[in-house]
Amino acid sequence: MKDAILVLNAGSSSIKFALYPVISVSDTGDADNQAPLIRGKITGIGNNPILSAQDRTGNKIGQNRLMPIAPNTEYDDLIPNLLGWLESSVDDATICAAGHRVVHGGQGHDKPARVTPELMNDLEKLIPLAPLHQPHNLAAIRAVTTALPDLAQVACFDTSFHRTQIKLAQSFALPRALTDEGIIRYGFHGLSYDYIAGQLPKHLGARANGRVIVAHLGNGASMCAMKNRQSVATSMGFTALDGLMMGRRCGTIDPGVILHLIDNKGMSSQEVGQLLYNQSGLLGVSGISNDMHVLETSISPHAQEAINLFCYRAACELASLTIPIGGIDTIVFTAGIGENSAYVRQKICEHLSWMGVFLDDGANTKNAPRISKAGSDVDVLIIPTNEEIVIARATCNLTNSRPVTGR
Ligand code: ADP
Repeated sequence: MKDAILVLNAGSSSIKFALYPVISVSDTGDADNQAPLIRGKITGIGNNPILSAQDRTGNKIGQNRLMPIAPNTEYDDLIPNLLGWLESSVDDATICAAGHRVVHGGQGHDKPARVTPELMNDLEKLIPLAPLHQPHNLAAIRAVTTALPDLAQVACFDTSFHRTQIKLAQSFALPRALTDEGIIRYGFHGLSYDYIAGQLPKHLGARANGRVIVAHLGNGASMCAMKNRQSVATSMGFTALDGLMMGRRCGTIDPGVILHLIDNKGMSSQEVGQLLYNQSGLLGVSGISNDMHVLETSISPHAQEAINLFCYRAACELASLTIPIGGIDTIVFTAGIGENSAYVRQKICEHLSWMGVFLDDGANTKNAPRISKAGSDVDVLIIPTNEEIVIARATCNLTNSRPVTGR
């Protein structure tokens, strides 16, 4: 029997999962060779759930081998089924621990933590800070606890990586009492930044510890300025709404707009929340889609306007993040758009030519690992992110990856 670590990333309507052999995450080998035994997702939770999955070689698992899920199934029923299905789908694998992505660890958690009743109490208190994600992250932990009470579980926080920032970088210009209450810039996408920070020496040698800005451009998008491979500043703040324009989120906005929507347009806070989280960004500006790939292939001028604004805003944020690290040596693009869209990378970097950023067009078109021109003052890299392996490794380390017995 192979011991395996289950990685779960539970959201409001979908759950992503992966099963990693302990042996592959506990060694220090190249992460590229550390493919999960199985990975997949269940989408449409609470409505019409559909499971899709692929095996180690990237082949889709056929419909006849997928787990049937009844409509309207919630986490409490879904998780035990998923656990059983995973063990039966992967020959001779036993789940020995589970690691969860948890969006908010507050100020108290600067690294992953073993799940205990005390930790769950702590994390429940943070729900008001991340109402869209935290309740689902915690529901998945609880459902695993109910199904397998003896299974060791670990929570890995998206906010932890940024706790190295000095107070200046984490503060809003608000009355002190509100700052003391925890209304600060927490930052997110920390698991992705943690992975990229670990990969930098392989690409940059000694320059890995220099001034690096990582652009995580996916449906959610943010940037992190690093020095010595630690977070110095980041574009997301108190919530994952701040900073860059995203697929459906507006990013930084004049707070006066929100007051205007409430006071003069009669919108409720729920309606404003819906507008800012789900109807803005690429979708709002294009009126077509939140999906960059769809917009790039559209002939609509509104699609082009949305892409232009996305790239302009990204370049402005990147330039402002050079201040906390005193300049820039390297830009890293990652996540769905950052890894795959040559057009977006080119447009962002065109705005940055004044700071000595020059792309090699051929390398950029091929999504090569290094896309800057020889002689560019700033190195520009593409590094595919891997948040799952960060969770799997932390889980392995914190649980000593001992197989669970007596289940
Ligand atoms: P999430 O934040 O949901 O994890 P991803 O990191 O998967 O998001 O990124 C999704 C985004 O990446 C979408 O906007 C998608 O269109 C974009 N993307 C993926 N592949 C391409 C591509 N080849 N060209 C342009 N955009 C792409």
